[in-house]
Amino acid sequence: MTNYIFLEVKTIKRKKYDGYRSIDGFPILKRFKLAKELDRVPSREIVLSKSEEERVDELLEKNIVISFHDHPIVFPENMEDLIDYIRTGYTALAYEGLAYSGLDIVFDGLLDGIALIHGNDPWSWDNIITQIGTRLSDLAMQDMIIKVEGVEDIYRASREEKIGLILHLEGAPTGVGYDLQKLDILYGLGVRCIGITYSIGNELGGGIADKVDRGLTDLGYKFIERCNKLGILIDLAHVGDKTSLEAIEASDKPLAITHAGARSLWPSNRMKPDEVIYALADKDGVFGVEAAPHTTLTLNRRKHDLDAVMEHFQYIVDLVGIDYVAFGPDTLYGDHVALHKYFRRLLSIDKIISGDLPEYEEVEYVDGLENPTQFKNIVRWLVKNGYSDDEISKVIGGNIIRLLKTVWRR
Ligand SMILES: [Zn+2]
Repeated sequence: MTNYIFLEVKTIKRKKYDGYRSIDGFPILKRFKLAKELDRVPSREIVLSKSEEERVDELLEKNIVISFHDHPIVFPENMEDLIDYIRTGYTALAYEGLAYSGLDIVFDGLLDGIALIHGNDPWSWDNIITQIGTRLSDLAMQDMIIKVEGVEDIYRASREEKIGLILHLEGAPTGVGYDLQKLDILYGLGVRCIGITYSIGNELGGGIADKVDRGLTDLGYKFIERCNKLGILIDLAHVGDKTSLEAIEASDKPLAITHAGARSLWPSNRMKPDEVIYALADKDGVFGVEAAPHTTLTLNRRKHDLDAVMEHFQYIVDLVGIDYVAFGPDTLYGDHVALHKYFRRLLSIDKIISGDLPEYEEVEYVDGLENPTQFKNIVRWLVKNGYSDDEISKVIGGNIIRLLKTVWRR
């Protein structure tokens, strides 16, 4: 018999939150009723003993806990309002949800791939700048969340009981390869992690949705060189296999796959083949395990839940070792499955999630890892499954800090 519970407010680790909401800063958002940030859906309980519960609290307390990739924003409760909401050019950061998450640092995937504020290219310069600008404006109105631009800021956020946000673009702006100065501008604005392509190939290289990945282009090589110089972490999560291998080879610094899983467990393009995972780890890069609905399924677990996600985690740990793995759940606040349905074509989900995939059972949400606040369920799972404090410390933040210390050094 499985118990379903609401557990999100049950934590001893709480940030200094004064009740600010993005709606206070941006009144245009007032016309939308937003989804609940806490306890929107119940999740299956990972039953722990009293001493295990204490260990979880202690681990959250003493470690700097980092999500390698999330969308820490709230969507409308009624997803019919989605397009209107996005077209405002503002999104609400989930201050309340994050205050209870146990997270210290979040890679903020902005509104990647679905920003249609200016025209129909989500990666247009105007769209990118609008998202960054409104996010920074929101941050300027409150004290709980700070922008992280260097490793020092990570320690400061933790020390001051705040949360640090790392500006992260899942794909490069359209045309950046022809105008690398845009990278300098993004760096100046605080962007510290960027994907080469977002599923569909661009002038830099191939994406996971391309039929043929032609590999890293000449402009792609220059892009990598400039990222290395500036100290921007390169993300391969949505990059094609061939381009990924060439990028790893070309880069002077380690890279990231902030959110994906293992293709050996689930044959989707969104997952990474062993060869890419090896190459990444060989260069001291870090792999973040993904949990967005219907991504990290496995042949054993065709109903997406925390256990399926953790099967990918265990597989990758067995493949390359505990030092190269982290978690980039890729979750948000609101109905994620409905969002995918709206943006199927744009996110190239059809090409990735349909096709020759084995049959799987659709879920309404990922039980146990539905939003960024449930990150702490990962810690509960690791404790329950016999991982040591040292191992847990590495995968919930330590490995990412090691990576950033190398990459962000100019
Ligand atoms: Zn993504």
